[in-house]
Amino acid sequence: MSQKVRVRFAPSPTGPLHIGGVRTALYNYLFAKKNNGAFVLRIEDTDSQRFVPGAEEYIIEALTWLGLEFDEGTHIGGPFESYRQSDRKEIYKKYVDILLAEGKAYIAFDTPEELENKRSTISNFQYDASTRGEMRNSLTLSKEEVQSLIDAGNQYVVRFMIESNQEVVVNDIIRGEVKYNSSVLDDKVLYKSADNLPTYHLANIVDDHLMEITHVIRGEEWLPSAPLHVLLYRAFGWEDTMPQFAHLPLLLKPEGNGKLSKRDGDRLGFPVFPLEWKDPKTGEISSGYRESGYLPEAVINFLALLGWNPGNDQEIISKEELIDLFSLEKCSKSGAKFDYEKGKWFNHQYLQMAPNAELAKMFYPILEEKGIDVSVNYIESVVALVKERVNFVKELWEQSYFFFQAPTSYDEKVVKKRWKEESPAQMNELAEVIQGIDDFSSHNQETIIKEWIEAKGYHLGNIMNAFRLAIVGESKGPHMFDITAVIGKEETIKRLHKAIEEIKS
Ligand code: GLU
Repeated sequence: MSQKVRVRFAPSPTGPLHIGGVRTALYNYLFAKKNNGAFVLRIEDTDSQRFVPGAEEYIIEALTWLGLEFDEGTHIGGPFESYRQSDRKEIYKKYVDILLAEGKAYIAFDTPEELENKRSTISNFQYDASTRGEMRNSLTLSKEEVQSLIDAGNQYVVRFMIESNQEVVVNDIIRGEVKYNSSVLDDKVLYKSADNLPTYHLANIVDDHLMEITHVIRGEEWLPSAPLHVLLYRAFGWEDTMPQFAHLPLLLKPEGNGKLSKRDGDRLGFPVFPLEWKDPKTGEISSGYRESGYLPEAVINFLALLGWNPGNDQEIISKEELIDLFSLEKCSKSGAKFDYEKGKWFNHQYLQMAPNAELAKMFYPILEEKGIDVSVNYIESVVALVKERVNFVKELWEQSYFFFQAPTSYDEKVVKKRWKEESPAQMNELAEVIQGIDDFSSHNQETIIKEWIEAKGYHLGNIMNAFRLAIVGESKGPHMFDITAVIGKEETIKRLHKAIEEIKS
């Protein structure tokens, strides 16, 4: 293709962006970057009834957090401004008028009551070639009647006139040729006089055309709209520049039966939104990946593999590699199970790869909140020892609190099992041995202390268990000498003495 690749992510600001929408944005982004193309954000806000304040800002913040930067959009402008459909009313009006003038669309006055009436008298009523002749529209009324109804302020809609029984082929990169018979389609409303706004279908294809979009990559739920879009392209005579379609597979419930929904997240305890969202009407708060402690890189990697794979079993793939490897042809047709546990696994992997300094920075506010004031270097050493035990930064505290505070109590069960009669005396001796160690590195402590244990004929396990109880307060934690190397000699000795005094076996 000689034309420059241009793709758009075109959300409707009707609420927080669902994680499936994030996946759609990601695939658009990867495809654009792979092809040195442009990634455009277009806000499709022509349905004023469903508009939710804050949703557009939310979408931008979420995708920015994930590092999916746009080349053009409502927030950064670009050569095809405005990227917000509600700013483009006149443009759509012009194109609706073209269809009307060419007899490819018509004006309909049927009120909701009249339509309801038809639906109750005709089974499977559809406003189409078979019924439009019985309705109140510009095909059945005279020109004068139409004009006088408009002049009298009657509301109307503009409907697309779809010829029955035509074959419509949607060429989909992922699904191949998908064929439809036009008779399944109704004469879709393209425009409403009530708010002088086009419907999604018209605005969507007019903008894809004007914004020179080359590929429409979107969720499978939009596939049924595609034949209508193809017919609209035809009606405008834009077939030559019609974008190529790619309808992405659904994200399925973790169990695999049916579409992933917010309720699955509530039921199984995982977020379905990238960022926390507070419903402006109800005040209800839904959790987000960011607030739950996910690293954006992990979310990207996780989502990338829900519906696409590189053709081998590589799982850890950086964004740069994804760009390099991505292709729409390798996207699957069938739905992808949303395996939330796998999402945690990805976060675990990315935490291990993150520099300790980064993790220390993320851990810092948690410590600060607990009133703990230690150097960043100290936090880094702690993080290095415990990160392999956590999936999230917020779990670090549970694995490392004993690095920041001496035990205030000692686990009773452990005391019963590990604190022997001879433990106080042995720990006292151990404190003296430790006092004499100059190089307090983990390795050197281990050598000297084990030599002492052996020379004295003590039981290694007994000593080490009591030692751990004294330092940690229970039987958990990383390698003992790694802990004491970090907390230091003085603190180690202090804790030994404290334990001798406080533990009553
Ligand atoms: N506004 C539609 C949405 O909310 C866009 C669908 C499309 O990409 O054509 O997803």
